[in-house]
Amino acid sequence: MNRLRLTLAAVLFVPPLLHAQQLDLLIRNGSVLDGSGSPAVRADIGIRGDRIVLIEPHIRRKATRVIDATGLIVTPGFIDPHTHTAADLSDLKRAHNEPYLMQGVTTVVTGNDGDSPTDIAATLAKWKQQGIGTNAALFIGQGTVRREVMQMSDAAPTPAQLTQMKSLVETAMNGGAIGLSTGLYYAPGSYAKTEEVIELAKVAAQHGGLYDTHLRDESSYTIGLLASVRETLRIGQEAHIPVMISHIKALGADVWGQSTQVIALIDDARTHGVNVTASEYPYTASGTSVTDSLVPRWAEADGKLLANLTDPALHTRLLKEMNENLVRRGGADSLLMTNAKDKSILGKTLAQVAKERNETPIDAAIQIIQAGGSSVASFNMKDTDIEAFMRQPWVMTCSDGSAGHPRKYGTFPRKLRVYVYDKPVISLPFAIRSSTSLPAEVLGLKARGLLKPGYFADVLVFDPKTIRDLATYESPRVLSTGVRYLTVNGQLAVDEGQLTPVLAGRPLTH
Ligand SMILES: [Zn+2]
Repeated sequence: MNRLRLTLAAVLFVPPLLHAQQLDLLIRNGSVLDGSGSPAVRADIGIRGDRIVLIEPHIRRKATRVIDATGLIVTPGFIDPHTHTAADLSDLKRAHNEPYLMQGVTTVVTGNDGDSPTDIAATLAKWKQQGIGTNAALFIGQGTVRREVMQMSDAAPTPAQLTQMKSLVETAMNGGAIGLSTGLYYAPGSYAKTEEVIELAKVAAQHGGLYDTHLRDESSYTIGLLASVRETLRIGQEAHIPVMISHIKALGADVWGQSTQVIALIDDARTHGVNVTASEYPYTASGTSVTDSLVPRWAEADGKLLANLTDPALHTRLLKEMNENLVRRGGADSLLMTNAKDKSILGKTLAQVAKERNETPIDAAIQIIQAGGSSVASFNMKDTDIEAFMRQPWVMTCSDGSAGHPRKYGTFPRKLRVYVYDKPVISLPFAIRSSTSLPAEVLGLKARGLLKPGYFADVLVFDPKTIRDLATYESPRVLSTGVRYLTVNGQLAVDEGQLTPVLAGRPLTH
């Protein structure tokens, strides 16, 4: 009775100033990691509109909604600097970006690997108008730009073509791209020499952009892993642009253990003023396709892949190089078919498909490509390399999420479960920083990545006992568990572990 009377009194006699300071959301009693790498503190977080307004112990303010985070961990929403979500976000049925929200991710970057929408401004405008579940930023892809101007030609550009490519990058940067991405391993990006890439990177640099790269070679295919890292550092130096190496790894037996040399190269460059960082996903398999993992790039030039596969004049050379690439990848047992038109091969390794058909693995691979190709999980990494990279203060978390690989649904919870709680390899504050303030800083995202008054209220509340990935190579599309609450720009996108209908994300521009 007394309490009721007091409440009524408070409602009736609230001074105007105090009323204005009422909170929309109050997250109480959580163990708060602010994303900077500092240890956890016990604090309450007050949110009004799209911003964090207060972080302190025992906030005494009225709030429309109060969440009790006792026993839970409160961090900034995760930021994923490398995804393949452009098509998801543009399709209203998938625009919630549920696989990411359920990992605690509030911001995704896409357009990586040199492959992006051509019209950056129009894509960002569509997302704004239609609504998206997470915040999202875009790179302009060098492969996209090259294809636009030169199709699948492996020639060097004429001066006019180079000018045209530079102007496409310029338009994209003016349209809100956060930088230039390359996929120098893939066709047609791979047809560009270093100097061509530097010219385009200079344009992005003039707009304060970032250079993001899938290295020319993460293995021993062409110039090798170490030379590819050196190429990236040269691009950074000569174009005066910060560089981010995407999904850093040592791919294949030939380069296992080279994480040591890669880390030394990068540390040395950093001490000499090159702004270089990297991202990484916590899986021993990469996600690619039968074509990209086995077929040499020359066979894809000018869009003649299918013709070249059956050209008798090329047959000996093609078989020899595809065989070498298969050895590099760890053999036919290490390629698992994960997404294909021909459903009969799903869940089988290349070795199994070959055996069923009574073919050699390479002939089976060629048949698969002729039937429309297949995504593969390619088991080619060592945990020792993964862990060595993960310990570096310049390494962020990324999913590189793609169809058929569990990383799209599991990356961020998996890093916490396996590498923080189970093994452990890194501390919780270090892991949270690698998924929040570090990518925000590298990507130039303003007022995100930290829990701080004035910052956007992208806030994650997770349960340390239950946070984990459930997606596997066999069932890659299973949502993660453990995310209890998640706000995107102050609105609850996950509430009591359930996705809400709101589309609170925003397109983010540079
Ligand atoms: Zn990539």
